Amino acid sequence: MDTTETMAAKTIFANATANFHQAARLLGGRFKDDLLEKVYQPMERIEMTYGPVMSDGKIHVVKGFIVRHSDALGPAKGGIRMAPTVTLDDVTGLAMEMTWKCALIGVPFGGGKSGIIADPERLSPVDKETIMRRFATMGYRHIGPQIYVPAPDMGTTEADMGYVKDAICYSHGQATTPGCFVTGKPVILGGIRGRKEATGRGVAICIVEAFRMLGRHPDGATAIVQGFGNVGSHSALALAGRGLKIIGVSDIRGAVYDAKGLDVKALVTYAADRCTVKDFPGGQDVDGQDLLEMDCDVLVPAATANQITEDNALRIKAKIIGEGANSPTTPQADEILCERKVVVLPDILCNAGGVFVSYLEYMQETQQEQMSEQEVVTRLTKRMTEKLQGVWRLAEDRTFTLRQAAMVRAVSAVCEARIARGFLT
Ligand code: NAD
Repeated sequence: MDTTETMAAKTIFANATANFHQAARLLGGRFKDDLLEKVYQPMERIEMTYGPVMSDGKIHVVKGFIVRHSDALGPAKGGIRMAPTVTLDDVTGLAMEMTWKCALIGVPFGGGKSGIIADPERLSPVDKETIMRRFATMGYRHIGPQIYVPAPDMGTTEADMGYVKDAICYSHGQATTPGCFVTGKPVILGGIRGRKEATGRGVAICIVEAFRMLGRHPDGATAIVQGFGNVGSHSALALAGRGLKIIGVSDIRGAVYDAKGLDVKALVTYAADRCTVKDFPGGQDVDGQDLLEMDCDVLVPAATANQITEDNALRIKAKIIGEGANSPTTPQADEILCERKVVVLPDILCNAGGVFVSYLEYMQETQQEQMSEQEVVTRLTKRMTEKLQGVWRLAEDRTFTLRQAAMVRAVSAVCEARIARGFLT
């Protein structure tokens, strides 16, 4: 088996690998090494290069990746990340995490992910649409209801999923296509109500349930949220709606703080207008890295990977960390937080609300139905709560961390699906 775990876990892929190997060890011989090797390895990694003419009249060479890590439980599911630094290895690590996330939350999907090397902050809307359309038409042999179903991730939005749908439909020469090719679309194009809010809402549901499991009430507890995009803003809104006080928020450009609590709705409006939370008049500007270490009950990293590391884990004051982002905590930081008895709600559980509601969208489109937002919220709440309780009980029974318990459960489910399928492929 790969020994990448021996290198310092500083990349998403290294984090995912270390977490997998730890789970494999904790499974204590329940599955054979060759099966574990099979479920660990990515099944398909595609690199694409395309060259659209952009609004400056020049050809721009853009690289994109699609990784299907596993189809043991169903078609690969996972978002499209657009970032200037995204790599094929990042996408592979994120696809692996999707395999465990889908297995843990109990949806019939495998793990997948895409990446586009581009800077969404610097692209005009027209150029971003062009890049999304080229990604979809180049990648469309690898996208489909039974193959890989993308969704939004960091740097891509609901609107972008509309362009992906449109580009694929017109590649078929049709106004629409049978089945669901992409989730997180605008509602008018077959999207589902409550998908945009689902990941952040799921984060809040998990955090509130964690308070309950600890015998505490979340009313008036303080929270800090890193990242104010889709996941961060909806986590903040949903936590505030459940009685928590949001005292600090950051994005890539700055951070704001108010010990008395920020007006999150006003902050959403402000950030939509200015593309940042910086200089929000209802708070005081602070340093984004310092914000992570300020006094609070709950910290929600909802930006990007490797934000909580061995360098700052000792100084984090939060008692509960709800991972909205994928892979925000390195394995080394995890050990420090575990010793300090900080409750870490792991990404594959805490941010799984998005993929769960994507599954509802997939079902809705396949069955030509429409689900109300209330129905979506009810199903999301039930699923997140049940899964958190199950992972919590396993962690208590076996003296695991919540991440170890979640990973053991997820890896077991994928191994069992592989055994059930047989090994001719
Ligand atoms: P997004 O692009 O909508 O927002 C990202 C936010 O993070 C922005 O506000 C950006 O300014 C901020 N940010 C980036 N780097 C930062 C830094 N170093 N410090 C502070 N802020 C920083 O992305 P998103 O969809 O909200 O995704 C955020 C994270 O959540 C990613 O890790 C993503 O993989 C994960 N995630 C997203 C979904 C989803 O449904 N969108 C689902 C599960 C997990």
